[in-house]
This record gives sequence, structure tokens and C-alpha cells, in this order.
Amino acid sequence: MDKNKKIKCRQCGNAIKGAISKNRICFLCEDYNKYYKPYEKAINSSAIRKMEQIFASAKEKKAKYDVMLLYSGGGDSTYLLYLLKFKYKLKVLALSVIHPLVNDLARQNITKITKKYRIDSKKITIKDGTYKEFIKTGLELIKKKKIKGPASACQICNYLRDAAAYNYALNKKIPVIVTGFNINQLVSVYPVIISDDIKSRCVNNRPFKLYKELKNYFNKRLRKIHKNSIFDFDLNRLFSQNTAEVIWPLSFLDLSLDKHKFLSKSQGLDNLLPSKTNCDALFFYDILCYRKIGVPGKYFEWLSQIRRLKYCHIFGSHKISKDQLALFVRELKKEIGLILKNKRTVDIKILKNRSPKLVKLLKNKESIDYVVKMLNKINYYKNYFR
Ligand SMILES: [Zn+2]
Repeated sequence: MDKNKKIKCRQCGNAIKGAISKNRICFLCEDYNKYYKPYEKAINSSAIRKMEQIFASAKEKKAKYDVMLLYSGGGDSTYLLYLLKFKYKLKVLALSVIHPLVNDLARQNITKITKKYRIDSKKITIKDGTYKEFIKTGLELIKKKKIKGPASACQICNYLRDAAAYNYALNKKIPVIVTGFNINQLVSVYPVIISDDIKSRCVNNRPFKLYKELKNYFNKRLRKIHKNSIFDFDLNRLFSQNTAEVIWPLSFLDLSLDKHKFLSKSQGLDNLLPSKTNCDALFFYDILCYRKIGVPGKYFEWLSQIRRLKYCHIFGSHKISKDQLALFVRELKKEIGLILKNKRTVDIKILKNRSPKLVKLLKNKESIDYVVKMLNKINYYKNYFR
């Protein structure tokens, strides 16, 4: 079998070079079927109990903050912010890592919502030059080591965000770190709670395995800006006993119904719809940064839904099947390719003419508008990492 030939996974429809098993299941689906699926319900209920224990003991410590939430300004983490403060009655610090791709809507939400809920907000800003330097150097490592699958610019960006946030919490001795990842954003078998009992296991798991390599490479190549900075991610420190517990509640709380009720009821928060991601380049990040992967970064999130549920919500509003998703991504890639070649902006009319299938799959005007808006950002970001 040709190692570079792309074969489609039977379960999720994804095609990754040379990473498909004999029975034509991709390594991500294989991991999911083996480690997560059989235990999903049991994992979820025990995780909720464990989380409540951790919250209770955090309160007993009577520190300035019980928990630090990685707050992006999007729907998921806003819902969590609300739960932590009003349901669990915790003292919360909302920490936001603002890198150059965080869009204006997210920036506004962070300020507006922390004010509305009276929650302390801390912002760590990554400057444009620093950010580009890290992403370029990280991509160099991925290419050199031929790291497969979802090791992309997104993961390097995640490294910077996680390093800054976790280091901040550890330095301030905040006992619990909460993140807004939901189950569909987990590209593989992630731990739902990184608590003392499983900390040692996490170090060699995705994404921390990649993080370890990035740390070493950055210390070699970007020593001046990385070594001992807030981005120098010491996993051993994070995973040592008696430091902060790390919880990703939306990986085990069944959020969909409650969250949507919350979002639709929230006065003045109507811009928190699930389609409005806080990253400006998510749709084409991988295509621009690392063409070998060649699929939009957001694709992995959709695939994760397909893997678990056999359908996915491309923009929160309606369900599509595995085959429709494959068609959608194919059409999206074609459109991205055309924009990169023609350097022209698009509008709804052009998109309808050029990609009627894409428009049809998007269904409502709001989703179409959003995709048009995202596509028109490509020309700006095209040369961003050169
Ligand atoms: Zn698969």
C-alpha cells in the first residue's frame, strides 16, 4: 500500500495520509472506539462527581480565587463562566489569552460579560511579531518531524495559550484551572479531568506529547523569547502532585440543551451563537500554514461530532451527514483555493454561482454571511506566516 495515498476512513469519512488502519478506520476513530466509546456514560457521571469534590476542596482553601477559567468570549466558555459563578458559587478569575487572530467580537464579549457578571478579568496579550515567530518555528518542527494528523498551526497556537494560562495559574497558586473545550473539540482521547490520579498518564498523551516537543524546539530555536518566559510550558510542573487540577467540564457535561437555553435567554448576549468562532482564521489556518494537511482546522471538530453521533452541526443550526460533510469540505477547499489564486473578494452572489452545493448545505442566510465573511479574510492572512 502506498503510504502517501489518502484513504477515506469508513467511520468519519476523513482522509489522512498513511494513518489509516487495515480495516480502514483512521487512528482518531480507532482511539475513540477503543478508549472512550465503551465507557462514555460511566466516565461522564464519575467526572461530574469528581469535579464537584474538587470544587468543594478548592473552596476550603480560601484562596483569592477558587478557579481560573480560560475565557475566550465564545458561547462555551461564557456558559461555563455562568455555571462556575452562579451554580457552583465559586470565586472565578477569567483569564483570556489574546493573540492576533482573536476576533473583535470575542474581544468585546470578554470585556462586556466579565463586567456584567462582576468577574475579575485578566488578559495576556501575545504580540503579532512574537506570535508569528512561534507559529513559523513550530511549523518547522512539524514538517521536519513529519508529525501526522491534527498537528497543525492550531496546536502551536494552543500551546502558547495553554502555556501562558497554566503558568499564570500555577504562579498565582490558583487551585483549579477550568477550560471551555467541549467534547467535539477533543481531537482524540483526552482526559476529562486531569486530576492527581491520572496526571502521570497525561504527559505522553496527545496533545501534551506534541507540547513537549514544541517546548524543547522553542528552547533551542527561540531561546531568547521562550526560555523561562510565560510560554515555557513545564509539563512536569503542571503534572506534579499538589499543583492545580485541570478540568474540562464540557467534555463530560451534556451541555447542548442547557447551553442553548442559557444562550437564547441571555439578555444582550445574542452574539454568542455557536457559529461565531473567536478565531479569525480557523477555517483556513491549516491550508495557509501547512498545506500538507490541507483541511480546514474546524474540520476536526466536525469530524469529532461525526465520529460520536454519526452527524454533525456545521453551524449549530442543522444536522448534516458524513457524506454531506465530505462534500462541504471539498467545496470549501475549492473555494479557498480560488480565492488564494484570484485574490478577489467574494459576496453571496459570487458564492451562489460558484459553489451552489456549498450554499445549499449552509441553508440559512446567517451561516452563508458568516462563511462569506471568513472567506474574505483569507487574502489578509495569506502571507501572515511567511
Ligand atoms: Zn475516522
